[in-house]
Amino acid sequence: MRYQIEGFEVEVIYKKIKGIYLRVDPEDGTVRLHVPNGTTQEQIAQVVHDHRTWIASRKKRPSATEVQKEAMRERLKSLIPYWEQTMGLRASRYTLRSMRSRWGSCNPKTGHITLNLELAALPEECLSYVLVHELSHLLYPGHDRDFWSHVERYVPEWKRIRRYMRKGE
Ligand SMILES: [Zn+2]
Repeated sequence: MRYQIEGFEVEVIYKKIKGIYLRVDPEDGTVRLHVPNGTTQEQIAQVVHDHRTWIASRKKRPSATEVQKEAMRERLKSLIPYWEQTMGLRASRYTLRSMRSRWGSCNPKTGHITLNLELAALPEECLSYVLVHELSHLLYPGHDRDFWSHVERYVPEWKRIRRYMRKGE
């Protein structure tokens, strides 16, 4: 199903999923939304509206740091409170910056989480996975079995997402 929303060409794919996933085709700028079956047109319009800055930035200069930062802030505005509330965990501070070899890091002592700016270009599920991963480090500093089962409780598909993200490195 294709819609015109706020000047964007939006392709909506209805699926048996829980969350809404948003991508922008770098080739032609088409916005692709994967939504749960039964999602209304109003909800779709709202998602596009909420992400309009990010969508516009993806279409123009996706590599520019400032644009990425703005896009990240826009996306994290709702994701951080959502995961902190869902997991009952809270970071003391979030920092966004370019990181060479990691998607994120967490200092369990200070509660300070750093997120890689490159995440701005990845689907929402990747951003959620990294947030859940780093927040879990507040409880489990290492990558032991308890850590991963904690991640899995919130992101059951973490293995697939992790594989996808590695491929992009
Ligand atoms: Zn880790």
